[in-house]
Amino acid sequence: MRLAAAVDIGGTSTKIGIVGEDGHISARAAIPTSAAGDPLPLLEAIGSTLRPMLDALGTSGLTPLGIGVSVAGFLDPDHSAMIENANLRALCGFPLRPAFEEMFALDCRLEVDSNAAVLAEYRYGAAQGVRRLLGVTVGTGLGGGVILDGALLRHTGECAGDVGHIILDPEGPPCSCGARGCLEAMVSAAALSRRAGGRPVRDVITSARGGDQGAVTALAETGWWLGLGLASLSPLFAPHAITVGGGVAAAGELLLAPTRESYRRHATPAHARDVRITGSRFHGWEGVVGAACLFLTPLP
Ligand SMILES: [Zn+2]
Repeated sequence: MRLAAAVDIGGTSTKIGIVGEDGHISARAAIPTSAAGDPLPLLEAIGSTLRPMLDALGTSGLTPLGIGVSVAGFLDPDHSAMIENANLRALCGFPLRPAFEEMFALDCRLEVDSNAAVLAEYRYGAAQGVRRLLGVTVGTGLGGGVILDGALLRHTGECAGDVGHIILDPEGPPCSCGARGCLEAMVSAAALSRRAGGRPVRDVITSARGGDQGAVTALAETGWWLGLGLASLSPLFAPHAITVGGGVAAAGELLLAPTRESYRRHATPAHARDVRITGSRFHGWEGVVGAACLFLTPLP
């Protein structure tokens, strides 16, 4: 059995697991991310979580191919460090790949989290083998990755640029990037929470499932903005399918149904007709599966 260890470092939480070549996560754990200050405590926490998983593999006579690491933010050209993310300053410029290689004595491959997420959907998820695929992840921030003809689109920071910072409302709330009313400012964990009177995302989703009208409306409004954003991105990438993952997308159809409706209303007719918008089947673990793909089933 071919296996890879995988780490997905987000702005709020870090997920760690072991993934087999069938895409199944055989061991998993999540820890909080300390997004500012010294990076070493986070590295140590990842080490003490992953080490027992690797030891358990060793006891069964298994060796992972390596450690795939997905991190939120732009990467340097040799994929050794994340170099830019306002939501994760602790790790900016920190040599993550060499640090992992030294800590575990295994090969490490580093990837932008939005690329890892879209790769997971392309290999094992909701959009397998789709020729032109846009995958967005809605969590602390909003990121997007693009696969075109079997290759990841890389032109800025080793990814498809900052799709979360197209401007939807110039009078909108300030964004982490310094502009106003970006897609990320309108569609993210903070934006959803703001629309729901400051409640945490998990509470909003639970309340909406229980029929709480305020929570349902907060998700519907978030979906409306997301649909507008995706309609604005479609003419650039002409995707056949769009996948929506991340912690906010755990709301499922409560978010996706209004997203599709808004998309159909705003998109140009060709895109409105032909694009399939789906959720993720990984329930927030797409970054871990995608990080493992860096060893199991990599793309250029
Ligand atoms: Zn922005």
